[in-house]
Amino acid sequence: MTRLLFAGVLLACASLVAAASCARGGDGTAATPAPTSTPAPRLPDNPDHLERWGRDSLPVAFCIDTAIGGWAPDREFEELAERALDAWGVPYELGSCPGAMGEDNRQSEIGWGTAPALDRYGDGQFQAGITNTRIIGCGEEECGPDDVPEIVEADIRILPDPPREFQTRACLLSVLLHEIGHAYGLGHLDAPSVMQTRTSECPVTLTRDDRAGMDARYGDMLFR
Ligand SMILES: [Zn+2]
Repeated sequence: MTRLLFAGVLLACASLVAAASCARGGDGTAATPAPTSTPAPRLPDNPDHLERWGRDSLPVAFCIDTAIGGWAPDREFEELAERALDAWGVPYELGSCPGAMGEDNRQSEIGWGTAPALDRYGDGQFQAGITNTRIIGCGEEECGPDDVPEIVEADIRILPDPPREFQTRACLLSVLLHEIGHAYGLGHLDAPSVMQTRTSECPVTLTRDDRAGMDARYGDMLFR
């Protein structure tokens, strides 16, 4: 049976962990808040040190790189990427990429890709996408229990030429949802979920488990 292999555990969730830094909380300046009856949304507590974007990095600035073409037209790719970003509800900004896709440039890109990690697997499985995240945070030895890893960059690459049966809007949206979930810090979940490791069904509806992972990380920040 042909199956679509979403980005594998070892490859999709590969994280580049930068040097630890205990400098927290920005530059220490604080603007005087305007009187308001609605408190500003804040990130929930994170006792389990879940990977997520920090308050200073929200909204996440994504850009779409269509320099490398894929089976779907650029406009459709952009439309579905935006739909996937909206579905998760994490604040984001979307623009076009000023340069070539690259890692460790503090620019979070979504695009087609032909990275070596997108090699085809055996047994009829195909790796449909991969997300590399760059994380800063504190090392265990030098930082306190309240320090948490923070994502500062996430680059998403989508397999441009999957088997014909997966060249559908639903499958492209499904892969984008999955990889964007990784980009926001989610790991894999049991099926059924958008974050399940493998599928031949291309799910496009976030499950309670999918949403729970995002709620735990961003809570009131979510706009959905
Ligand atoms: Zn994955």
